[in-house]
Amino acid sequence: MNLLVMGPPGAGKGTQAEKIVEKYNIPHISTGDMFRAAIKEETELGLKAKSFIDQGALVPDEVTIGIVRERLGKDDCKKGFLLDGFPRTVAQAEALENILNSLNKSIDYVINIKVDHSILLERLTGRRICKSCGATYHTLFNPPTKEGICDKCGGELYQRNDDNEETVENRLNVYVKQTEPLLNFYKSKGYLKHIDGQQHIDHVFDSICQLVGGNDK
Ligand SMILES: [Zn+2]
Repeated sequence: MNLLVMGPPGAGKGTQAEKIVEKYNIPHISTGDMFRAAIKEETELGLKAKSFIDQGALVPDEVTIGIVRERLGKDDCKKGFLLDGFPRTVAQAEALENILNSLNKSIDYVINIKVDHSILLERLTGRRICKSCGATYHTLFNPPTKEGICDKCGGELYQRNDDNEETVENRLNVYVKQTEPLLNFYKSKGYLKHIDGQQHIDHVFDSICQLVGGNDK
């Protein structure tokens, strides 16, 4: 089973990806892990990638795509894989199609975890941190007993700048802008499947399992 998982920040993509690879026993291929492995193994492409990363530069597509090609050609991908964080652009998606063709593979599903903008905003802006002891809370998922006050030490809770509405709004808008063409690309290929990410974590996972056809637990 060859899967690609997509979803905005706050949609729970990481959690679902972990559950999928565990259940279906397929490798979880994220861009970061792939780069780290290639660098550690000191492959030619890995060393190339490292030279860009060390300079703080973006790794060019040809290098990234080469690393993806090497990774997907490994034995553990024979029974399938879950790609996470790649592709990010239509050009990369087209390159991926070529790689898969040359390996006699194809994507089965592109799983897009959908969550309403307002709910993402609530999830992503809810973190609060204690000024005194550093304990973290979440206004929705782990609220303190008394609003704005740390349960552990009575300290004042604050919101990090990264978590404020404007910053989060920006992140979400960037995501939508970047991924819309990609979603359209996969829709036109017939791979794209939407999953309701507003359900309980377990129900989101059940929906994914039903989609990919393995209802056994
Ligand atoms: Zn505290």
